[in-house]
Amino acid sequence: MSENLLDKVTSESGQAIALCYQCRKCSAGCPMVEEFDFPPNMVMRMVQLGMKDELLKSKAIWMCVSCETCGSRCPNEIRIAPVMDALRAQCLNEGITPADPVTVALHTSFIESIKTFGRVHEATMLMTYKWKSKNFTSDLDVGLKLFLKGKIPIMPKKSKNMAKIKEIFQEAGK
Ligand code: SF4
Ligand code: SF4
Repeated sequence: MSENLLDKVTSESGQAIALCYQCRKCSAGCPMVEEFDFPPNMVMRMVQLGMKDELLKSKAIWMCVSCETCGSRCPNEIRIAPVMDALRAQCLNEGITPADPVTVALHTSFIESIKTFGRVHEATMLMTYKWKSKNFTSDLDVGLKLFLKGKIPIMPKKSKNMAKIKEIFQEAGK
């Protein structure tokens, strides 16, 4: 149990987690709740209680798709997506093995593509993802169809404003 978890996640997410009173409106509307091991309202309670180990090893923090449905339903205007982001960052920073490494592989491949090109370049992102996840054979048929239709360009195009992208990553401490 961590005494500082609530303060740390509140500060990093910018969300008033202490105000959550377990009305469960977030979980009732969450489109991903069936994939979570702890529903969104429970995640909030666990943060309040400082249940750091359980949260950082949970599948729930990686299953959130940041759709913001919970934030639009919450009577206290708490957005859970930034809370999940703060917990994910803490999981990776502390070297904890994520409960869902394949999602983490996709997540980090996406971020690396944005950092390198300022936008997603699907071909390099998919190659990085395949390498990280060691999942070399899935979705090859779909990938080939997209490639043949010209939906996956071979050469990347960098954003014209890479300086701004660099600035954003520096601000985020990446
Ligand atoms: S932002 Fe995450 S927790 Fe909130 S409703 Fe969407 S998937 Fe669920
Ligand atoms: S909707 Fe808001 S107050 Fe209600 S359980 Fe979810 S986070 Fe807590």
